Amino acid sequence: MPAPFATSVFPVQLNATRRSVVHPRDLPENLVADRQALAPVSERFPMKINPYFLGLIRSADDPLGRQVIPHPDELRDAAGAEDPLAEERQSPAPQILHRYPHRVVFLVSSRCAVHCRFCMRKRRVADGPQVPVAMIDKGLDYIRAHTEINEVILSGGDPLMLADDRLLSILQALRRIGHVRLLRLHSRMPIVQPRRVTPDLAAGLARFHPLYLNVHCNHPGEITSASAAACGLLADAGIALGSQSVLLRGVNDAAEILTALFEGLLAIRVKPYYLHQLDRVPGTAHFEVPLAVGLELMAALRGRLSGMAIPHYMIDLPGGGGKIALTPDAVVEKLPSHWRVRNWQGRVYDYPCAASPKK
Ligand SMILES: *Cc1c(COP(=O)(O)O)cnc(C)c1O
Ligand code: SF4
Repeated sequence: MPAPFATSVFPVQLNATRRSVVHPRDLPENLVADRQALAPVSERFPMKINPYFLGLIRSADDPLGRQVIPHPDELRDAAGAEDPLAEERQSPAPQILHRYPHRVVFLVSSRCAVHCRFCMRKRRVADGPQVPVAMIDKGLDYIRAHTEINEVILSGGDPLMLADDRLLSILQALRRIGHVRLLRLHSRMPIVQPRRVTPDLAAGLARFHPLYLNVHCNHPGEITSASAAACGLLADAGIALGSQSVLLRGVNDAAEILTALFEGLLAIRVKPYYLHQLDRVPGTAHFEVPLAVGLELMAALRGRLSGMAIPHYMIDLPGGGGKIALTPDAVVEKLPSHWRVRNWQGRVYDYPCAASPKK
């Protein structure tokens, strides 16, 4: 008789192949020729690639590989700041970032399924222990004490790296705070580890409406049947889905790629929310796209894409000044009777202005 469960004979090997790659020597040979050369890079900026995302990469230089495989250029970048947005200065309590009066970012997790090489918060992301419960409790105390806060954005790291019961208990605690009305999650898991999104998780989250979730997705190659299924489960649970993308050289800095990305996101029920200009943390210079190019790309999208598919192009000001949306210059000239504006084809029109009301 054949053994009923042949695979159980090889539990060790199976587990080994399922582990995330955290050292260049464990990268598949066909992806990187000189893995040894990457060791110093991953010592400076720790790497992590989970098996699912690794399976989508065809070469170290493809748009998915570039996002997570260490690159020697990271060590050639002397510029950049560990905390360009002065988040630590705007952290009045453990795990809380409080920049705008009515909303806070609550960093409930320090772990991610992959370490993005360009991560703006990599100073706080590690494959180590999770944020201690006592710190989360201190953050909750801060939100409770500040009645002006009406929105809490769970971020990290990735909040979906927490076990369901931990995550849901944090949401429960937040829902018990009368002045907190909106809950938002920022997570890359529906894209980089779609199986994390289970029917149980979706049903658990649905207890806390109004709940919004923004995924992080940078290239159409990240949109798969698995990520579509994950987003479908969340959308079916009534969770409004948005996306954040980072404009990255060699990944998505072309109009055709952004078009496919934003159309692909809408097709899996995700509304493109923000396209972020890269925040210049150390080791990221090789990803930088000039602002002028970013604006040209945004202008090129206007004619090609449904308005539903177009995100805001955002810069986050150094020193904690906050976010600003940049738009291609539409206004050519402002005259008292009319404004002269340029449309998506570059044609100029006069738009009549109402006279200002007399004071
Ligand atoms: C980005 C950010 C927010 C959220 O901004 P939205 O424009 O509402 O998405 C809130 N607080 C901090 C500190 C942020 O960096
Ligand atoms: S998933 Fe987000 S927080 Fe985590 S490493 Fe990537 S960019 Fe950073």
